[in-house]
Amino acid sequence: MKRRSFIKKSSVSGLALALAPSLMVAKDRELEYSVLELMGKEDIQLYGEGINLRKEAHDAFLAMKKAAYSDGIDLKIVSSYRSFDRQELIWERKYIKYTEDKGMDPLTAIEKIIEYSTIPGTSRHHWGTDIDIIDGYRKTNGDVLVPEKFEAGGPFEDFKKWMDGNANKFDFHIVYTKDPKRRGFKYEPWHYSYAPISVPMLTAYRRLNIVQLLREEEFYGSEHFTTGFIKNYLRNNILDINTALL
Ligand SMILES: [Zn+2]
Repeated sequence: MKRRSFIKKSSVSGLALALAPSLMVAKDRELEYSVLELMGKEDIQLYGEGINLRKEAHDAFLAMKKAAYSDGIDLKIVSSYRSFDRQELIWERKYIKYTEDKGMDPLTAIEKIIEYSTIPGTSRHHWGTDIDIIDGYRKTNGDVLVPEKFEAGGPFEDFKKWMDGNANKFDFHIVYTKDPKRRGFKYEPWHYSYAPISVPMLTAYRRLNIVQLLREEEFYGSEHFTTGFIKNYLRNNILDINTALL
């Protein structure tokens, strides 16, 4: 009996293994991503020292970096993959700063944080497809991820021009565009996403019950998340992005 069930089991898994590669191709790509993976809670394989992206995104980034080099620009990653835990640290640090140091009420603090920072579990940086980049050749004081620094006269003016003309050729797209009608996160001229992976990941992400998943979390401020707030946040901050990435 035992042996029989073993044989049955192993032949089933053997069959699944044999079928797996072709099934993966036939299936929609978004089915490959787990809930934990989509929320930054899984140790995914990342490539490149100081790059930390999924293989395909890493390779595309290197090709883009090489092209930029020959035009005198050093594409330097400021931030790429970020785990749930890391995002939670960022979130809680800001929450404490706004509520305790600046005396804001919790909801005002949360609105302030989500101008630029994501709620843990909802960051595109969890996916290993998104990067914040600047021109490493240009020296500048203080924070580098400031929109003005990418405008005319700013240290990253040339970087911005180069990315406007070339990033799409390597399948990288800006996420939070300058469009004044766009809601959610403010304009981020430094944040790019590798579309061939991030588009199916976003599709997979949209199928999750984010309201429930976030309400199960316990980090500073999360007790103030209402269903309405989370739904608005998803509509504005997660989905009101560059349409090339939807
Ligand atoms: Zn970013």
